[in-house]
Amino acid sequence: MPVPHSSVSSPASFPINYGEATQRFLTLAADLGHLRTHTLAEHGPDGEALASHSLWLGPDDASRVLVLMSGTHGVEGLAGSAVQQDLLQQILDGALTLPPDCACLMVHLLNPWGTAWLRRCDQQGIDLNRNFVDFRHPLPENPGYDALRDGLLGASPTTRQQQLHAFEQQHGRTALEIAISGGQYTDPAGPFYGGQAPAAANHLIHGLIREHRLASRQLAVIDLHTGLGPYGYGEIICDHAPDSPGTATARRWYGDAVTLPATGTSSSVPKAGLLDYAWHAIMDARSCFVTLEFGSFATDTLFEVIIADHRLHRHGMPDWHDAATRQVKQAMRHHFCPDAQQWRELVLFRARQVIGLALTGLSS
Ligand SMILES: [Zn+2]
Repeated sequence: MPVPHSSVSSPASFPINYGEATQRFLTLAADLGHLRTHTLAEHGPDGEALASHSLWLGPDDASRVLVLMSGTHGVEGLAGSAVQQDLLQQILDGALTLPPDCACLMVHLLNPWGTAWLRRCDQQGIDLNRNFVDFRHPLPENPGYDALRDGLLGASPTTRQQQLHAFEQQHGRTALEIAISGGQYTDPAGPFYGGQAPAAANHLIHGLIREHRLASRQLAVIDLHTGLGPYGYGEIICDHAPDSPGTATARRWYGDAVTLPATGTSSSVPKAGLLDYAWHAIMDARSCFVTLEFGSFATDTLFEVIIADHRLHRHGMPDWHDAATRQVKQAMRHHFCPDAQQWRELVLFRARQVIGLALTGLSS
């Protein structure tokens, strides 16, 4: 499925904020399919109303569905929205048609509050990708995080780096990354917090699965993320168990490019409470869920920009126009959606490639 370079949408099509992302998505989606609005009570930094949107394209009764989601981690939805817009534009241009008996469900900005405020977490401080645990049971423990937490948010960057370095020396790099980013359920002001109950977006996902009867269809789910891994590379991360039918399906569709956190082949470490798990639970053996993760800068930089954002928000909502706020938010935008043509072309090219593989897989 070659993708001519000249056919890749303009990198200028990447939105700079929530309002632009939503407006462009709605314009493209208007006449294409069945669109629904999922409004939030909270507002954006300029008082704007916030919503996720879901768009169903293709036959209602299709037995196969491509599910393409953006903005699980709010700020990452700027690039995710651009990918979704690119797909809609291709359909409008007649450059791409869904295979027979195949539909597409797009979830645009699953965490619109995070997109608007340039944060990873939602309005409750919850990292949605740690929130899909069974809250009827004891929550996962992360003793590494508990050991590091005071230093993470309180210390100067130098002291923090020394502390993280000491932890890494003692326990290894993977243990350090799990301690920070594996998920924690004890510190609502901290990063990678999974919450104490299902988040609003958790309910939205389960509602969409129910209302569209997705448990009875073959699914190719792609959740779009940015900020982890090599610059511009779109890693296909599979969090199905290594010997499961889901991993076998992912390998069949996406080939040797598939990476598995569970076996250490991914930029991502194993994590608690992933959105993946809600979908794994309803999927049959011919379906799979992958995260398409576009890298940007180093993982240590990722941790630094997120920690700075949590330090900014730890005493409540900051003054959006304050210079210190602008600096932190600019760093967030730069890490999760770099303003560089090279990066954006890589994202669009790879997204087209992976979506093409998913559609081929679904129709084989
Ligand atoms: Zn992410």
